[in-house]
Amino acid sequence: MTAPNFAFDTLAVHAGAEPDTATGARQVPIYQSTAFVFKNADHAAKLFNLEEVGFIYSRLTNPTVQALAARIAALEGAAGGIACSSGHAAQIMALFPLMQPGCNIVASSRLYGGTVTQFTHTIRRFGWSATFVDTDDLAAVEAAIDENTRALFCETIANPGGYVTDLDAMAGIADRHGIPLIVDNTTATPWLCRPMEHGATLVVHSTTKYLTGNGTVTGGAVMDSGTFDWSASGKFPALSEPEPAYHGLTFASLGAMAFTFHSIAVGLRDLGMTMNPQGAHYTLMGIETLGLRMERHVANARKVAEWLENDPRVERVTYAGLPSSPYYERSRKITPKGAGALFTVTVKGGYDACVKLVDAMKLFSHVANLGDTRSLVIHPASTTHRQLEAEQQVAAGAAPNVVRLSIGIEDADDIISDLDQALSVAMS
Ligand SMILES: *Cc1c(COP(=O)(O)O)cnc(C)c1O
Repeated sequence: MTAPNFAFDTLAVHAGAEPDTATGARQVPIYQSTAFVFKNADHAAKLFNLEEVGFIYSRLTNPTVQALAARIAALEGAAGGIACSSGHAAQIMALFPLMQPGCNIVASSRLYGGTVTQFTHTIRRFGWSATFVDTDDLAAVEAAIDENTRALFCETIANPGGYVTDLDAMAGIADRHGIPLIVDNTTATPWLCRPMEHGATLVVHSTTKYLTGNGTVTGGAVMDSGTFDWSASGKFPALSEPEPAYHGLTFASLGAMAFTFHSIAVGLRDLGMTMNPQGAHYTLMGIETLGLRMERHVANARKVAEWLENDPRVERVTYAGLPSSPYYERSRKITPKGAGALFTVTVKGGYDACVKLVDAMKLFSHVANLGDTRSLVIHPASTTHRQLEAEQQVAAGAAPNVVRLSIGIEDADDIISDLDQALSVAMS
């Protein structure tokens, strides 16, 4: 069911999921089993040698989780990939095969707040580091790369919204330096953008968001284009040299599946950031309606953004789908079906008005999440971006007078009415 001639919405329903060979079950069963029986000792040895592909133990692979990874790979146009326990796990899983102590990444300054924290502080404990740059300044991106840089990292539609990254330009720079471009495609989803078509090597997801779609599951995924030559530069020994922790196998010899097999046989095996089968099942069901939901998310976001832009209580709306946005033209190139459903609103009255607004919302839920069927609001400066320095907050588009909206799939007029009444309270 992964025939390449099927269109996106067909793959979203079918890819990775044949009727169950044992029972004929049409929906992907939840294989709630830790281990899988070997046919005999020879079969077991072949599986452990990667001579045969099959299931051993669910920390590494599980049929339900595997179906999810295959479906996301089909949607992203990837050669392969893995599902894992969260979006943040996916980021570590993406970097793990590339990095060693002393290595760095060059990352966009416009990223999900939690990612900025992960890259600023936590990865340092592995001996890795990140240099943050404004990805609109391509010369600065180029200048930040040194001999220890192992990847560029950016988001397609950058959290907290309204910014679209020029993926083609970023991929061009990565190519010139012989390093992969990693794109967090969480807020765009492959329905709006397939970063590999713009030159990305790896795509990471928080499947917690639009892919699952209804705020039920925490999960992540790492997808690989299969086209990067890991042996060309000597910069990626985990992939290009014999792996002592996997009986001397050189993963690059597996060709397009090198990164994926390393992620399973070493990454998931030893880091254990595994997705559970129940979670994978919910996310598979969510993806079945991804196209329908994204269409409505985008249509609603456009209506709400247009209404807000014309409201005198609002200073600025950063939706890249508005012709007034500096990223409007870029969005038409990178995300031609729409600029997503996540954007920020600068409210007159500053920090205090924002806090009042959030508390006055009735239909919108005040939560640290996005990409739910429900409309969500958050005030980044007092929550998700609280750990950042003031200038980091501004660079990330999360200044104190900014609220972030994640527009749901409810009726657009109801969404607008709720904003209308809450803005009145915020101004009072
Ligand atoms: C939520 C999010 C993450 C982190 O994902 P979790 O599933 O919460 O770990 C990373 N990047 C972006 C863009 C996100 O929205």
